[in-house]
Amino acid sequence: METIAERLKSVQTTIKQSTLKAHRPSNSVKLLAVSKTKPVSDIVQAYEVGQRLFGENYVQEGIEKIQALQDLDDIEWHFIGPLQSNKSRLVATHFDWVETIDRLKIAQRLNDQCPENKKLNICVQVNIDSDPNKAGIKVEELNEFIEAIVIMPNLCLRGLMTIPKGQQSPEQQQHSFGKMADLFNALKLKYPNIDTLSMGMSGDMVHAINNGSTMIRVGTAIFGTRNQTKESNAT
Ligand SMILES: *Cc1c(COP(=O)(O)O)cnc(C)c1O
Repeated sequence: METIAERLKSVQTTIKQSTLKAHRPSNSVKLLAVSKTKPVSDIVQAYEVGQRLFGENYVQEGIEKIQALQDLDDIEWHFIGPLQSNKSRLVATHFDWVETIDRLKIAQRLNDQCPENKKLNICVQVNIDSDPNKAGIKVEELNEFIEAIVIMPNLCLRGLMTIPKGQQSPEQQQHSFGKMADLFNALKLKYPNIDTLSMGMSGDMVHAINNGSTMIRVGTAIFGTRNQTKESNAT
């Protein structure tokens, strides 16, 4: 069995090699360690070898970990799960980023509930393959949606996020990631401050990096197969 530190190192090597191969700057891809269903002690192991960005999918579980680790105050916490409006205040209060924005009502609530002197970083989730089983804004609706988001004073638009359809061929994956890159580059012309294209997971990070991802979200390849939790069973 490899340790978390060893697996993390191997993911970092993959990132390094893929960015090099894609002729991209070596520091252009960030690694979000997705720790959902994993205990605090796993997060600490990753932290001890330098990992600082962590992603959680379930509100209650995420907040318990954030509170348990509040002394490690240089961790950046990303919420990457589906968000119900009755939990938006908790997320606005405890997380640094929300990557799964796809409804104006939720964005508005997060904006209104954001604590004073805090700005919540957000990514708009795009349903790039028009997959009926996936969350996210339709491509045709993206521009209008973004225009409504950017005027919300307590939210800071950082970019786009996607989860492509599962079970695709490598060619189809490349195609989906390529479409995301086009959307991201077009958006960047209009909003030069955005810097995040969050795409790529354990199984497809190389293709994602090859197509311009600036943040990969990796769970299994770092922490191993996921445990079940009460919350993950419920959703
Ligand atoms: C669980 C999850 C990941 C990590 O997936 P792995 O395949 O375990 O790397 C990435 N992004 C989102 C949105 C997730 O829910």
